[in-house]
Amino acid sequence: MRNIIEKFRTFMYGRYGYDKLNFALVIAYLLINGIGTMLFRYTRIRLIVLAVALVFLGFALFRFLSKDTFKRQQEEMKFERILYSLRLNERIDSIKKRSKRRKLKIQYRKTHRFRTCPNCGENLRLSKKRGKRNITCPKCGHHFTTRIIF
Ligand SMILES: [Zn+2]
Repeated sequence: MRNIIEKFRTFMYGRYGYDKLNFALVIAYLLINGIGTMLFRYTRIRLIVLAVALVFLGFALFRFLSKDTFKRQQEEMKFERILYSLRLNERIDSIKKRSKRRKLKIQYRKTHRFRTCPNCGENLRLSKKRGKRNITCPKCGHHFTTRIIF
């Protein structure tokens, strides 16, 4: 057993190995392959989907074994920049916020109206008094006017 580990270590010496992009590529492979299997089990499309999935796996393997570590690091940095620019966490937060807002809107539809503070984005619940209203945001203190018509 020790011999095998030693051999593997020698084999991997100077090779790039494992990073986030490789992890993502393997996940992509599993997802595409899994979805392909579910949707197209007995059709030829299944083979095409499998081939696409294998491209992802092959790229991961290529990067894992690559000796050009500089290039692989560049790819990893690019990948992380893309991840950052997608702002996934912020997107999930905003989806949660919107769904909460929708629930409140339905719950209070007979007595209240909702407005968003233009300064801090806080969701404000206002009584359903019609006409022009001067609002002070309780969160950030910003003053703004709004009109409640219905
Ligand atoms: Zn505010």
